[in-house]
Amino acid sequence: MKNNNWSHSPAWILVSLLISAALMSCTPAETPGESLTGSEPASASGLPTVDLIVEGEYIVTMDENQTVVKGGAVAIKDGLIIALASAADVNAQYTATEHVAGNNRIVMPGLINGHSHAAMTLLRGVADDLALMDWLNNYIFPAEVQFVDADFVRIGTELACWEMIRGGTTMFVDMYYFPDVVADVVESCGMRAMVSATVIDQRSPDAENAADSIRKGLDFIGRWKDKNSRIIPIFGPHANYTLNADQLRETRAAANEAGVSISIHMSESQFELQYSKDTYGMTPIAFFESIGFLDGPTIAAHVVWPTETEIPILAERRVGVIHNPTSNMKLASGISPVTGMLRAGVLVGLGTDGAASNNDLDMWEEMRLAAFLQKVDRMNPEVMSAQTVLTMATSGGAEAIGLRDQIGALSIGMKADLIQVSFDDVHFVPTYDVISHLVYVADEQDVATVIVDGKVLMRNKEILTVDTERVAHEARELAKRIQAALAARNQ
Ligand SMILES: [Zn+2]
Repeated sequence: MKNNNWSHSPAWILVSLLISAALMSCTPAETPGESLTGSEPASASGLPTVDLIVEGEYIVTMDENQTVVKGGAVAIKDGLIIALASAADVNAQYTATEHVAGNNRIVMPGLINGHSHAAMTLLRGVADDLALMDWLNNYIFPAEVQFVDADFVRIGTELACWEMIRGGTTMFVDMYYFPDVVADVVESCGMRAMVSATVIDQRSPDAENAADSIRKGLDFIGRWKDKNSRIIPIFGPHANYTLNADQLRETRAAANEAGVSISIHMSESQFELQYSKDTYGMTPIAFFESIGFLDGPTIAAHVVWPTETEIPILAERRVGVIHNPTSNMKLASGISPVTGMLRAGVLVGLGTDGAASNNDLDMWEEMRLAAFLQKVDRMNPEVMSAQTVLTMATSGGAEAIGLRDQIGALSIGMKADLIQVSFDDVHFVPTYDVISHLVYVADEQDVATVIVDGKVLMRNKEILTVDTERVAHEARELAKRIQAALAARNQ
């Protein structure tokens, strides 16, 4: 079929401009009314107009007092929460351009996935049931060198955003290659993310070695630092076994120079523990501290094997630890002493890790497993309460990644990153305790509405910002090539 691209032609642009001008001139001028804050334009009802009012039978705020508002509503304007109270009060004070009803819905902060490799959705299931180093060195790294290019990262990240939005995740901290492509996808899908420029001392899909990846990382950070408030560029040095002490120091210096955080894998496996002792004469966290690597905001993924003396270092340095229970279980990396770290004042959030080691991006499952794993490890059902893990997935996670003043809780002035969980499903009947149900029962399919920065990304389970049909098609086509190449390689 002929495609003449008329919609991009100058003639069409001119027609569009004329139409918009005509529409604008027909719009009646808004009459100024009384405004509670003095800044919102008034509607015909005389009430100030906000962009969105989102209601819920319960608003689980995750604020410092763990406030739950029954029959509440949140008013949102310009991406921020400007009111949170009973639905009656909010509706008496504001009128909204869009109103999201709250029958049988719980409103809560969007979930924060503190550690992911989004584009690895395309490598989901290519190699399972292996130990971390075997899995990395013999499957993942070779597959990445062969297949990962900008297109792979675009499609894989789109798949991940689709999956995360569907499941109520609003923010993620990503570490992968081609960070510009990741950032572009995040920009278009409407999520919030920290996007790492990965630093690794080997030939990777987007760099030759550590020095090259640091150089390219600085360029990436320069391009994105102040471009879009939803996208925070950071550095992602891979680990202390893929970079040496000098390269880790250089990355820290570059991050501090650029004024950005670092996300890194830390003390993940017994291999790393032994490698660190053999190579640096110290356990990983003591080593990082000794080279000044913790002199700046650090997000440490995993931290499965901290020693008794290292835990206070994490607390003192305010390192944000991201616990990834599913990945740690699947790769048999071990059980992170999360209970002890929390007791020592360490900031702990939750993450999924990549879809190749999880094998999904489901934060509800992560919450549940985080609770159960600590209970069975400690042989004590009282540790790791539902409230504690819900905090790790929201406000605690926000604090671990350094954004506690902006996201992770619902209160006036915070960014409007929130979700509605529907409790229509049979597993919500009856509901005695909302927090218990959110952690021990709810799953991705229960998420009905997702809002980031005051914009609706999913309405009544329909994703609005990802072209799911196209992405599914592109992913399946790419997977055919990967599968054929893997089959040839393993012959
Ligand atoms: Zn990881």
